[in-house]
Amino acid sequence: SIHTNYYYTDLNKIKKRYKPISKFSHKGTQGHVLLIGGCYGKIGAMVLASQAALRSGCGLATVFIPKCGYEILQTATPEVMVMTDENYHKITNIEFNLQPKSIGIGMGIGQEEETTAALYHFLKENKIPLVIDADALNILSENSEWMNLLPKNSILTPHPKELERLIGTWEDDFNKIEKVKSFVKMYHLVVLIKGAYTLIIDDKNVYVNSSGNQALATGGSGDVLSGMITSFRAQGYSAVDASLLGVYFHGRTADIAMNDMGYGGFIASDIIKYLGKVFLELK
Ligand code: AMP
Ligand code: MG
Repeated sequence: SIHTNYYYTDLNKIKKRYKPISKFSHKGTQGHVLLIGGCYGKIGAMVLASQAALRSGCGLATVFIPKCGYEILQTATPEVMVMTDENYHKITNIEFNLQPKSIGIGMGIGQEEETTAALYHFLKENKIPLVIDADALNILSENSEWMNLLPKNSILTPHPKELERLIGTWEDDFNKIEKVKSFVKMYHLVVLIKGAYTLIIDDKNVYVNSSGNQALATGGSGDVLSGMITSFRAQGYSAVDASLLGVYFHGRTADIAMNDMGYGGFIASDIIKYLGKVFLELK
């Protein structure tokens, strides 16, 4: 098999990749994020992802959600701009006239037939850098010929079950990494393998994240991460840097929070609450 470089990402490595926000930046230069997802009963995923995007430093965040989420989003987070599908329950037609710097898609989106079709039409037209998560990954797994529609340097953020649907089963950790590496090379992607010690895999390297703990094993945790990575991508970071920063900061919130509470008391919105503390550590 091909040689792989392994790197461990700790605070010092992250400090080298992080670029402080300029004194002269404004919301127009800090990057506009578009997040597409949500369905009836899973609008919270989009609340979490969009708050996480803003708390990670992007200048503007817009969500595209089904109509049922309109008031939920506007009430939960006044800072987020909201565009709605014509359908009440689910996304059926992804249409917008903005030029976001990055797009995150899939959080709480569901796998309805019309949503699947909408994803296909979106991917056929889209050229903006993508972060793909959750049911958008599951839809891609069931329509693997659409993988060729992804822009180069798209970021995929599967948890182990979603990864298995994408690449099939593996024999052991070594075999899993080899399979992901060939998948990454075939489609020119960055792929995460989420869990304790999340792996970030690009076409040359495997990065092992050092932050985080079992407090993150809680609903919505992944949606927050996708919002964060999409935010860093919009701020001009490469696919691999956006992933490294997102994963490290995400984990670090849970480490810091464990000074104030135990593992069980932590929920996904706490990741967002503690993000500001992580930025303080970069000084
Ligand atoms: P999801 O399953 O999509 O909600 O994503 C879960 C998120 O929580 C991922 O970022 C995982 O890396 C993280 N996570 C889950 N369990 C653990 C754990 N035991 N230790 C560290 N991080 C975890
Ligand atoms: Mg998830």
